[in-house]
Amino acid sequence: MTDRKPTDGKPEGGSEGHHPTPHLDQLEDGPWPSFVTGLKRLRDEGSPGNRKMMNDLLGQLNHSYENRLGYWKGGTVSVFGYGGGIIPRFSEVADKFPESKEFHTLRVMPPAGYHYTTDVLRKMCDIWEEHGSGLIAFHGQSGDIMFQGCTTENTQKAFDALNEIGFDLGGAGPALRTAMSCVGHARCEQSCYDEVRAHRTIINSLLDEMHRPALPYKFKFKFSGCANDCVNAIHRADFAVIGTWRDDIKIDQEKVKEHVAEKGRKYTIDTVVSMCPTRAISLNDDDTLEIDNKSCVRCMHCINVMTKALSPGDDRGVSILIGGKRALKIGDLMGIMVVPFMKLETDEDFEKLEEFAENVVEFFADNALEHERIGETIDRIGLPAFLEAMDIDPDPNMVNHPRTSCYVRTDDFDDEAAKWFERKAREAGLQISAE
Ligand code: SF4
Repeated sequence: MTDRKPTDGKPEGGSEGHHPTPHLDQLEDGPWPSFVTGLKRLRDEGSPGNRKMMNDLLGQLNHSYENRLGYWKGGTVSVFGYGGGIIPRFSEVADKFPESKEFHTLRVMPPAGYHYTTDVLRKMCDIWEEHGSGLIAFHGQSGDIMFQGCTTENTQKAFDALNEIGFDLGGAGPALRTAMSCVGHARCEQSCYDEVRAHRTIINSLLDEMHRPALPYKFKFKFSGCANDCVNAIHRADFAVIGTWRDDIKIDQEKVKEHVAEKGRKYTIDTVVSMCPTRAISLNDDDTLEIDNKSCVRCMHCINVMTKALSPGDDRGVSILIGGKRALKIGDLMGIMVVPFMKLETDEDFEKLEEFAENVVEFFADNALEHERIGETIDRIGLPAFLEAMDIDPDPNMVNHPRTSCYVRTDDFDDEAAKWFERKAREAGLQISAE
């Protein structure tokens, strides 16, 4: 470490009265783009009204690094008619850095699938240059567009201008949070349903829960078109909707042969056959592939490696998993499989999804303790109680890792599961084989 002169907030060093930022400067050393460079650009080239604010922001940040203390505190700031969507930040060192004494964030809902036109993006930038600091994050982990750095006075003005071009505030606090959906079927061939429609349907029907925080704690929906799960739904969403299929993987054997001819048998075995988590794939002597679809868990690995030769089946739909979240009371949780497969094509299918989502949020509102995510509620009351409340029958597909769970005997499991599926089919008046 070189000797660093304490800055104590006085803009004594650097050009044009810039606060010296020795600690932040180090963050520009590495090979990756640095947020510090972006902040400095706004300080030096941003709109004249914002330069001082960014200078003091950099000064405060450096002061924080120096003293290893954060100097932001919360408070209450909102716009008319809304209870959430603004993250208030007031500085505790405003006497040293007065220009950035208020640095609030507006959480704004992005379009489903993150589809923007350049025209809209330009308008957003203009609005934020006028009313905010010019600093925008596309997107925060919450999925929102984060418009960062606004004074209390300008919050309403900025929101009105964004509202004018068709955007709305997202969630903050104990409320329904802004949802995320992957780019999906608009651009991705692996997509198994219309993510954008599912996203809009659910958020529109529950919008009140987002704007007027009244839930015990946060609740997040995320929508991924396939098990690649590009929006991290399984471990970040209370309600994850993930595309899947229930018939066989589609195989183009000619493309398989081309792949093997180009990459070699060893490469194909090492990267596809041996990497299948359930050993469902074999490579025949004539360089064709065979997949035991009953053992396939739809993880997408083989399809990702052989995108031309393999693709999801035709009978597509979604799985719904409840309770994923990052650390809190009981640590990180992955979502629990609650609806193994649901078709999502017709208007009635979407209505069913909407109804189910409303029921789950209502259950959460009625039963969760304060500051408890739904995964923790389920952990506390037990999965059977949750399934009963949701009127869902337990299903063998809900068993996590049936091949390795010490509570399930693998030899019995397949037989018992087959009996269960037969019974369900009989109840539904369908004819199926034990498969
Ligand atoms: Fe195996 Fe996953 Fe491919 Fe299914 S999708 S065959 S589980 S690698």
